[in-house]
Amino acid sequence: MAQTEEFRAEERNEMIDTLVALAWADARREIDPRVLEAMRQVPRHEFVPAALRYAAYRNRPLDIGSGQTISQPYIVALMSDLLQLEPDSRVLEIGTGCGYQAAVLAALAGEVYSIEIVHDLGVRAAETLQRLGTGVHTRIGDGYKGWPEAAPFDAIIVTAAPDHIPPALIDQLKPGGRMVIPVGTRHQELIVVTKNADGTTLSEDVVPVRFVPFTREPE
Ligand code: SAH
Repeated sequence: MAQTEEFRAEERNEMIDTLVALAWADARREIDPRVLEAMRQVPRHEFVPAALRYAAYRNRPLDIGSGQTISQPYIVALMSDLLQLEPDSRVLEIGTGCGYQAAVLAALAGEVYSIEIVHDLGVRAAETLQRLGTGVHTRIGDGYKGWPEAAPFDAIIVTAAPDHIPPALIDQLKPGGRMVIPVGTRHQELIVVTKNADGTTLSEDVVPVRFVPFTREPE
């Protein structure tokens, strides 16, 4: 058991080396050392289905059931980095999936809230997040309307791609806060939205990406 844990720690270190190299090659980007440390700590293999554990540390997306995928580690690192979290930040994630990104956020921030629309995924992720003692607050439902009772947030991350930025998410962002969100249908772009002190927003395109579609609950 102890040996297996150690083996996987070594795999995690290799995963970090790979994504550091990718970030540099991709855009001369240096990922915040705090993000790298968080990803060294979180046992990614605990979040993926048993049959895919062997591949948990490869830099590729993985099927997590219900037709959904967990992002490749490089994208998790990039999105976490772009949020510029502080140890006391309050964060909202839309798209819990298997809970891996939420666990990485929990290692970086103060409070993490995460919403998943697919019931079975939400239940499984909540169990994993609880078993590992992450303290992430989870909810099953449509994240389009955000989590008003827990707002405002310093940072919001969306891990499925809508065709427009849900207005409620802008509302629930604190002035000075940041949102990282993939937007688009066939062509998707990862966007960073910053909210100014006067409530206006600024959007910046970062990189083309490929996420599963943001779905809506039937009204
Ligand atoms: N962050 C996840 C990645 C999950 S993939 C992880 O680390 O595993 C994106 C997830 O967004 C899917 O599980 C999908 O079901 C969910 N999703 C799509 N539309 C949603 C919506 N409107 N509200 C909440 N979750 C949504």
